[in-house]
Amino acid sequence: MGTTDRLLRASGISALAAILWFVVNLVHPVGPRALLWLPTVAGSVILVMGLRRTARTEALPEATRRFWRHLTAAAVFIGIGVVSQAVDVLAEEEPRGLQTGPVMLVTCAVGVLIIMFALFRLPLERQSHGEMFRVVLDAGTLMLAAAVFFWHFSTRAALSQGDDKAIYLSLFVTIIALLAVFAVSKFVLSSHAHIDNGALRLLAVAMFVGAVAPMFRGPFEAVDPHLFPDMWSTPVVYYFAVLAAARQRTALGGKRRGVPAPRRRSFSLLPYVAVAAVDGLLVYVTWTNGEDEAVVVGSAVVLTALVVLRQLTAFRDNSRLLARLDHSATHDALTQLPNRILFHSRLQQALTAPGDRPVAVALIDLDDFKEVNDTLGHEVGDLLLVGVAKRLEGCVRAEDTVARLGGDEFVVVLDDADPAAADLAADRMMRALQQPVYADGHELPIRASIGIADGRSGDQPSVLLRHADIAMYAAKNLPGTACLHYEPSMSVTGNDLGAELRYAIDNDQLFLLYQPIVSLDDGHIMGAEALVRWAHPVRGTLAPDAFIPVAERTGLIVPLGDWVMRTSFAQLAAWNVEHGDAAPQVLNVNVSARDLREPGFAERVGELLAEFDLAAERVVLEITETMALEPGPSVINLLRLRAMGVRVSLDDFGTGHSTLTLLHDCPIDEIKLDRSFTQSEVDDRPPVSAAVIHLAQALGLHAVAEGVETADQAEQLLSLGYIAAQGYHFARPMPPARLSELLAAKKSLMPSAAPAETVPTA
Ligand code: C2E
Ligand code: CA
Ligand code: CA
Repeated sequence: MGTTDRLLRASGISALAAILWFVVNLVHPVGPRALLWLPTVAGSVILVMGLRRTARTEALPEATRRFWRHLTAAAVFIGIGVVSQAVDVLAEEEPRGLQTGPVMLVTCAVGVLIIMFALFRLPLERQSHGEMFRVVLDAGTLMLAAAVFFWHFSTRAALSQGDDKAIYLSLFVTIIALLAVFAVSKFVLSSHAHIDNGALRLLAVAMFVGAVAPMFRGPFEAVDPHLFPDMWSTPVVYYFAVLAAARQRTALGGKRRGVPAPRRRSFSLLPYVAVAAVDGLLVYVTWTNGEDEAVVVGSAVVLTALVVLRQLTAFRDNSRLLARLDHSATHDALTQLPNRILFHSRLQQALTAPGDRPVAVALIDLDDFKEVNDTLGHEVGDLLLVGVAKRLEGCVRAEDTVARLGGDEFVVVLDDADPAAADLAADRMMRALQQPVYADGHELPIRASIGIADGRSGDQPSVLLRHADIAMYAAKNLPGTACLHYEPSMSVTGNDLGAELRYAIDNDQLFLLYQPIVSLDDGHIMGAEALVRWAHPVRGTLAPDAFIPVAERTGLIVPLGDWVMRTSFAQLAAWNVEHGDAAPQVLNVNVSARDLREPGFAERVGELLAEFDLAAERVVLEITETMALEPGPSVINLLRLRAMGVRVSLDDFGTGHSTLTLLHDCPIDEIKLDRSFTQSEVDDRPPVSAAVIHLAQALGLHAVAEGVETADQAEQLLSLGYIAAQGYHFARPMPPARLSELLAAKKSLMPSAAPAETVPTA
């Protein structure tokens, strides 16, 4: 931007020249007087050019360019005025004051009005009433302070001269200047997005110098009546304006083309500076026994009042903000119900209140919420939750607390409610939830399960909640039952199992089986999926379905998942040593939604890979469809894992929801066709498995067919284009030692004779 630099330099030179020449003339008049006005005239032209350039910079947003267009127009008027003033002054033998020329007065007034218009036209950011009020107060403070200075240094002198014309002119100029101060300060003080912060500061400096400098004529007048401070101040003002214009161009021209960034208020100090300045004036006037002491004292008092008022409104707003923060810390943002924290403190209160009385906790969980969320979208899901929250609130007494624990889980503290009263409340809730909720044009039937824990004063809140949770799950699992009270016998499948599982993880009661993933082509082992088992001391070997849900509910899934990863990684490393190239190329590990949501999960996987010296490509993490889409930490973990080279597989593909959206949005490498599609009877319709392999091929994903139980299924999958499969037909999940034997034997896992295609080679 060579032209920019040249304009800026020319403007700077004219300002410098003006100051130097002025000083030289102050010492001793030299050269023709017209020369003193030359920088001002030249500066006017440069100013118009500089502003116009910014107004025409296409990278700037329209609102910004419009602002600078207005400034350009203002500069034209002010330039004409200033030149006409120079002509006026030069023409007069005995110049008495500057405000003589009517042209100057009119054009400058027009110029200032245009600037104010430009400032008011600029779109402001949305602000609270309090904030806007403070901006006006601050602007008023600045204006009043400026008025006091105008009064003391300019208007008062004109009044004392008693010249009517001078008085009116002075008043006129003062009012315009004050309006300008108000406009600038209002704008500068409010947050807005369209003008570069630095440019605004420079403009404010320019306006300030322009308004204040002419007031200090007195000292120069005494030296030489032909010397006016405007001679140097105007080019200086211009220079700041040209600098501001240049600044605006570079600020928005480069990195963030035309996208203004919101700025924060940075001028809040200004009103205090104004008050300090007026206080300074007050001290000075009192000291020198100035005759306008009363005016200055009065203004200082009013100013102080304005600033105090401003502070008061700021305090009020702040305390409102604090209250809001307080509210949001204890309430759920979506439903505005108390959250888990407030629920706990209310329950605690109820349980510790004086006297011995019953307290019931009812946990309500929606049955098909995930489905609504997945099929109709989160917005509809949110509306449903809000609807449910309202219904539940309508069912309880004022002293009861309805809270949302998260997701689709709600809880009610029923204070002073025995089991019969709790039943009544649960009944009311069930009935209230029976009517479908209307959300976004959808009629959503609600089914919920309720678990009730009946407690008494002195019980532990966490125990009650756990019992309600167990009862709720029991109700959910019992077909046709919507509501159950907790009974200790339920604990065997819930609570106690949690405690036992904790022990099991720490005491090696878990073990892993590995199910080979084989090539459909020749039956060689491509990889293996790790499947967890629990050697329960009393109940025998438990399948994951018997304890994974408990682990997920209790949070034990995180240490469990860690154990599975560590154990299986160690196994893969051992196979590497034992079998070299014949070791399974990939290890599939199941990951639960809870694991994936854990911040730092990806890093943990990385650490384990490093610990066992495994290439990230050797590990495939299996996730289920519904959990992958959860925004936030899950997706971050997924992206990090993939960046590390770990592959991600969609388990049970086809059974979840919004599969296509997921494939589109979620970073994955593999899909595992759910066994329901592998095993579906072959009829005339093209099988889902065919569609899925096409999809996988089109998206460049690896596909594994799960649950292959027969040779027919294997054959059909191969003919459809599947390469890899898993299932009892090839091998059941087996202990690692058994898989090791298979690997050593390099045996094909194809049960019957080799498939037709490979027969000729035999
Ligand atoms: P999954 O990931 O779909 O695992 C495949 C399940 O299908 C295994 O059941 C496996 O034994 C079974 N299977 C394999 N081939 C056949 C077949 O040909 N026919 C039939 N009918 N079933 C077959 P398993 O081991 O009981 O695992 C059940 C589920 O538990 C797994 O489903 C997985 O979601 C979960 N799971 C297993 N291990 C872990 C683990 O370490 N962590 C986590 N988070 N979940 C696990
Ligand atoms: Ca799996
Ligand atoms: Ca599966």
